[in-house]
Amino acid sequence: MLKPKAQFDKVTDITAKFLKQNDINAVILDVDNTLIDLDRKPLENIEKWVDSLKSEDIKICISSNSIKKKKITKIASILDVPFIYFSTKPLKRGLKKAKKILQEKNENIAEIGDQLFTDVLGANRMKMFSILTKPISEEKTKLGALKRRIEQIYLKKISK
Ligand SMILES: [Mg+2]
Repeated sequence: MLKPKAQFDKVTDITAKFLKQNDINAVILDVDNTLIDLDRKPLENIEKWVDSLKSEDIKICISSNSIKKKKITKIASILDVPFIYFSTKPLKRGLKKAKKILQEKNENIAEIGDQLFTDVLGANRMKMFSILTKPISEEKTKLGALKRRIEQIYLKKISK
């Protein structure tokens, strides 16, 4: 349940070709540490990447657990994609909403994010294609750093 189907360093490394080879017609994107860093700076070339997916007819929807609507609205409007905030991943609620927007079957949707226990677990529970990316920036809090260490331990276990 915690094993990602694929792993990439950053979201912009994922090509439309790779998605199509895996029968993916739509992607659900996490925001914090996936599209923007902890200072809210968007990832380099993220607009170009989103446009490249759109030009290949891959549908896109943002699904963030953040309750900061303004922050999520801002990145969604820059990228011109629909969004869901307070998504409560790994619960199915927010991902079901995203699915409704995308109008695709679960197996044709990839969920992309930087966290095992929200993004990957949520995607796997929904039987969507889970893609784990590396967090853009280091965690600033002790709790955040602990969370990352636990993820690393699980990732090592899974990859054995
Ligand atoms: Mg995140």
